[in-house]
Amino acid sequence: MSDDGFFGKYGGKYVAEIMRRPLDELKEAFDFYMKDKDFLEELDTIRRDYIGRETPLYFAPTATKLLGGAQIYIKLEGLANTGAHKINNAIGQCLLAKRMGKTRIIAETGAGQHGVATAAACAKLGLECVVYMGEVDVRRQQPNVATMELYGAKVVPVTSGSRTLKDAVNEAMRDWATNFETTHYVLGSALGPAPFPDIVREFQSVIGREVKRQCAERNVDIAAMVACVGGGSNSIGFFEPFINEKSPRLIGAEAGGIGPGVGENASRMTGNASREGIVQGFKSRFLLDEDGQSLPTRSISAGLDYMGIGPQLAELGMSGRIEFTAILDKEALDAINFFARNEGILFAMESAHAGAAAMKLAPTLPKDKAIIINMSGRGDKDLFITNPVFRKEKWIDFLGAELERVKNSTDIHDAASMFNK
Ligand SMILES: *Cc1c(COP(=O)(O)O)cnc(C)c1O
Repeated sequence: MSDDGFFGKYGGKYVAEIMRRPLDELKEAFDFYMKDKDFLEELDTIRRDYIGRETPLYFAPTATKLLGGAQIYIKLEGLANTGAHKINNAIGQCLLAKRMGKTRIIAETGAGQHGVATAAACAKLGLECVVYMGEVDVRRQQPNVATMELYGAKVVPVTSGSRTLKDAVNEAMRDWATNFETTHYVLGSALGPAPFPDIVREFQSVIGREVKRQCAERNVDIAAMVACVGGGSNSIGFFEPFINEKSPRLIGAEAGGIGPGVGENASRMTGNASREGIVQGFKSRFLLDEDGQSLPTRSISAGLDYMGIGPQLAELGMSGRIEFTAILDKEALDAINFFARNEGILFAMESAHAGAAAMKLAPTLPKDKAIIINMSGRGDKDLFITNPVFRKEKWIDFLGAELERVKNSTDIHDAASMFNK
């Protein structure tokens, strides 16, 4: 925990004066409601009935046998409503905002997963929802844009800068600074200015608490826990109850992209361009050039390519409590195939980085020990990424045929004309 918003030398609140009030007000409300019995009971009920918690801890017998070492267990966060862990944070923050008397929610999104989770949470709780998304991402991520709109959210394309995630964050900050009387900003990962890293970790730590209980009930002896790391919300929530203990080993899998070169990956802890910096309101480790300008990142998974990592993970990585490893695109794709074929479990592209790290580690550990993989999300959302890789020609044929069908079908034309007046 951090009272001043710092984790060692990382974290903090490096923001313009105008941002102080909303951040201070948020911290005060968060500290209050996390001790409020009524709030916590409502949150628990929503977790159970709406998100579908607790999520299963699945023993993977075939994977265990094939890898020939430690027992493989998978925490199935992908079974949470909306298909990933992001709903844990979105629901927590939206419920908090509602208690604070806010009626309007804003969020940033890159690939669109956090936007989808926030839009769903707002629909469930009856809040207005505006999602800022870089114009480039809006174009690339139409399936998620469509889902957000179905939930009733307004998606605003951001046209400044590189028109991607970091520009969407800037735009959301600007909106919040002017509208915080009515509006809460739901930040999507365990980063940003304090108190966001604490808030996001707290709402995600339900994952780790369940794992701890599930393992104790079943006498699972955990040697290592593995999670993928974008901004760091699923990993820090998964690790949280174990951080202050000596074991198990905690392992974060970053996007190794296509290799170690600058611009080829998003390895903020182990990469060649990893530097300390202050970016978007907090101090941490980022991919920056010598002048402190952010560098382009690369990863096949849309959710692991932010240039910075959450401050608590940066601190725990530098102190050695958390080990980091870079997983290549190819290794993540192999892991998707491995778990799909052998266990009937389809990992999200991001989560497959954790799966791949576990596949490398398992043979080196004894059979009476366990590795727990956090499957942060399920892979249904990645059809547009995996199909062009695994079956390119068939996918091109399909897209071509679909285009013709959508343009020419009279049934579609008739249905669409009822909604596009
Ligand atoms: C967004 C996302 C991630 C990466 O974000 P973290 O904040 O690092 O957890 C990982 N997995 C899935 C399925 C995601 O949608």
